[in-house]
Amino acid sequence: MNLFAKPCIAYKMIKAVFPGSFDPPSLGHLNIIERASALFDELIVVVAENPGKKCLFSPAERVSLLERLVRDRKNVSVVSWGGLIVEFLREKDIRILIRGVRGTSDMSYEFELSMWNKALAPKIETIFLTTDPRYLVLRSSGIREVAAFGGNIDAMVPPPVAEALRGKFRDRGADGGPRIV
Ligand code: ADP
Repeated sequence: MNLFAKPCIAYKMIKAVFPGSFDPPSLGHLNIIERASALFDELIVVVAENPGKKCLFSPAERVSLLERLVRDRKNVSVVSWGGLIVEFLREKDIRILIRGVRGTSDMSYEFELSMWNKALAPKIETIFLTTDPRYLVLRSSGIREVAAFGGNIDAMVPPPVAEALRGKFRDRGADGGPRIV
């Protein structure tokens, strides 16, 4: 027996993808990112580029905001993608898709979405992370609305996002048009 032979252990890095609109990224999204990045070797946050969906922040702005939020997490990267998310995973040879769920209404939508993705790419597994109860009611559409009316969003989004939201609405009315004074 060769006592000096090193055991041959092949370790495969397990990567996961967390896709979404992130318009804007909230504390709920950030919580899912933190928890998923602790579970996997590498996490890629994918910002959906969907020209058919009117977003407040451009894909480049959302990527840049998310990059600021995750810059201390060495195993997290952020990219944008304009195609089907399963194609992104296939291209990168990643099998795990992370989604966050806030409750049963999210679950029925997310479940159906995961079935679509399963039909398109059977090898990809969707893993659901339940929300942290602190962020149960946070959703980007609600945050945009509160910000548009000048409400306080500091408990909903990280400081750089709050600043960016205030910047978006500083010169606009709540309906997105010019502010009438
Ligand atoms: P939303 O406008 O609902 O925030 P996104 O497309 O940006 O939609 O969400 C991306 C993913 O993050 C989805 O799986 C969504 O369910 C999840 N998510 C959004 N907000 C939260 C939250 N507060 N807690 C947990 N998961 C969340």
